[in-house]
Amino acid sequence: MGKKILLLSLTLITTVYSIDAQSIRTIKKELQQSIEKHETELIKTSDAIWEAAETALLEFKSSKILIDLAKRNGFDVEEGVAGIKTAFTASYGSGRPIIGILGEFDANAGISQKRKPVKEARIPGGAGHGCGHNLFGTASLGAAIAIKEQIEKGNIKGTVIFYGTPAEETIFAKVWMVREGLFDKLDVCMDWHPGDEIEAGTQSSKALVDFRVKFRGSSAHASSDPWNGKSAADAMELYTTGLNYYREHIEPTARIHYQIEKAGDVVNVVPDYAQIWTRLRQNNRAGVDVLYERALDIAKGAALMTGTTYETKLISGIYEIQVNRTGAAILQKNLETLGEITYSDSELNYANTILKETGKPQNGIDGKIYPLKPTLPAQGGSTDVGDVSQVVPTISLGVTTAASGGPWHSWAVVACTGMSIGHKGMIYAAKALSMTMADLYKNPSLISAVKEDYLKNKRYDKYDPRILPGPPSLE
Ligand SMILES: [Zn+2]
Repeated sequence: MGKKILLLSLTLITTVYSIDAQSIRTIKKELQQSIEKHETELIKTSDAIWEAAETALLEFKSSKILIDLAKRNGFDVEEGVAGIKTAFTASYGSGRPIIGILGEFDANAGISQKRKPVKEARIPGGAGHGCGHNLFGTASLGAAIAIKEQIEKGNIKGTVIFYGTPAEETIFAKVWMVREGLFDKLDVCMDWHPGDEIEAGTQSSKALVDFRVKFRGSSAHASSDPWNGKSAADAMELYTTGLNYYREHIEPTARIHYQIEKAGDVVNVVPDYAQIWTRLRQNNRAGVDVLYERALDIAKGAALMTGTTYETKLISGIYEIQVNRTGAAILQKNLETLGEITYSDSELNYANTILKETGKPQNGIDGKIYPLKPTLPAQGGSTDVGDVSQVVPTISLGVTTAASGGPWHSWAVVACTGMSIGHKGMIYAAKALSMTMADLYKNPSLISAVKEDYLKNKRYDKYDPRILPGPPSLE
């Protein structure tokens, strides 16, 4: 009797499981079909953002293009969130699970480029999408639209929220959105980034702080009575000299960058004003604090040595990404299902011409799928996705959208993000993201596992946004 019940329930479990496996396979197929159905519209959208090429906090056309697409697809849009005119959320569905997806759309200043594999500005001095954020925002909204269609059909239950997140390249607007509590209700957040390789994210990013130092002295004629002057430019030089001496004694994972914004106007006047933007990075927020404290002392020392006064002003700061390996493993399976991206000879020639022009090995484009990498600390850049990942479990994806090993944040990437190499990566990203979201919607135990990973690896007791009160400002 007992055996019979056991057998019966085993059969039931197997049947239920196979129906579930069957239904999730069908859903994933439909998600891919849905993205293919929207492909022309998505390419048009990303190209329009590529052409608008708007920089931080000025992305009015770009955010409107995405808002209009979300509205046309029945999303409930809230504009100007967190006090930022170009930030928005677009939601669809009701109840749990609530899955978010990030979308950036800002460009990089000064790297305008035509759709050509040799350097030639489209608009001289203009901006360009050298980080592929035109693809980033569009693919994420594409994934959200595909999920919405499954919610509409009754195949998926829950809510999807697309986050239109501006100004990633300079001031990191997500930090304001996190402080506003916009991510608090999420179960999981999805994220991707254009790159030159396809990978489920297992690598952290560097935390950083950005701040200005302003030195004030007093002017005098540089030759008639220089003894009456106190040079703000001297203070600036001593400050950067101090930073550069400090550079020898920081750990190899730390970075110090600065940009002198002002240090006098003419050679025959002792400058009374100087201004510099400093950026300090380390693999985690705690490490940034050590650098920050020392840099503030160096500024104070420079002012003391020159008899000038100084003031420091925080611009913004971001956390490192908290990697969610459990989530990455779910994503990895979908990358393996989708398989590699293939390229035509003309796309490979295009990429190799770019690589030749930039003095890099001509390795074409890498659309292959590799095994899941080990979990790694930061190596390269920083992102405000770090702050999102501190408050909600975040799953990150990287997809090829440019020539292999080409210089990032440069014309070489702009040349790819407005044509088929970028488009292919965007469509691929939309599919992989939506398929992974479907796994989470359909299997609550996966959401629990992703949350458990988040809690287990949490480094900070409290999230402490490093920004000033009020909206972001580049002043
Ligand atoms: Zn980027």
